Amino acid sequence: MASAVYRRVLLKLSGEALQGEQGFGISESTLNQVAGQLTELQTLGVQVAVVVGGGNLFRGLAGAAAGMDRVRADQMGMLATCINALALRDAIERCGVRCTVHSAIPIGGFAEIYSRARAVRQLEEGGLVVFGAGTGNPFFSTDTAAALRAVEIKADALLKATKVDGVYDKDPAVHDDAVRFDHLTYEEVLERNLRVMDLTAVTLCRENSLTIRVFDLLTPGNMMSVLKGESLGTTIGGE
Ligand code: UDP
Repeated sequence: MASAVYRRVLLKLSGEALQGEQGFGISESTLNQVAGQLTELQTLGVQVAVVVGGGNLFRGLAGAAAGMDRVRADQMGMLATCINALALRDAIERCGVRCTVHSAIPIGGFAEIYSRARAVRQLEEGGLVVFGAGTGNPFFSTDTAAALRAVEIKADALLKATKVDGVYDKDPAVHDDAVRFDHLTYEEVLERNLRVMDLTAVTLCRENSLTIRVFDLLTPGNMMSVLKGESLGTTIGGE
């Protein structure tokens, strides 16, 4: 079997990735499918950490648009990511793999408070780690949290799993002639305003030379292919 080209990766999983066809909340079958893919990666010996979003439950910007105070709305958004993190841990552990949730905000007995040292140790011991509550600060996104945690734990790549199979020059759902990029530099992403991740996240990756791999999560086997170094989706930065 081909071996992995990455030793440690951080996967950014959007909240939407967990809602499946139902368009809101957590789809049990999608959750189990994602957990299955994640635990399968253990066979490659790759250390996998996950930052999960919360957009399937609540987004601070939507709350603010409806008249809420943005900071309180973002606090609700961060709690939404914790709900997803707990769901994911449960599904992963039902697959027989140890999994720890680290939250950027203290939530008592539900999850550990984020500790880089403990997270790295748990990864080295063969467990999966899920980071909840984003960065713990309002006005940030879980994309930025993913870039931050990836840099902190010295991940070799940030895997950005999406609903489409890479980065396109325009929205492929709207334009038939949209062209997918195989490779992009950070500057190209920033200059062309390609909305793959927010600017803070891309900038953090650029400053730390962290490769971003963008691919379609829900095609079975994709994550495995990315970890084996197969050319799939779009690679940002890197060689
Ligand atoms: N959020 C925040 N600070 C962070 C990360 C997230 O306040 O560091 C809040 C914010 O309100 C955001 C919500 O959590 O809308 C859910 O995160 P995000 O929108 O990034 O989730 P995704 O789109 O990936 O599902």
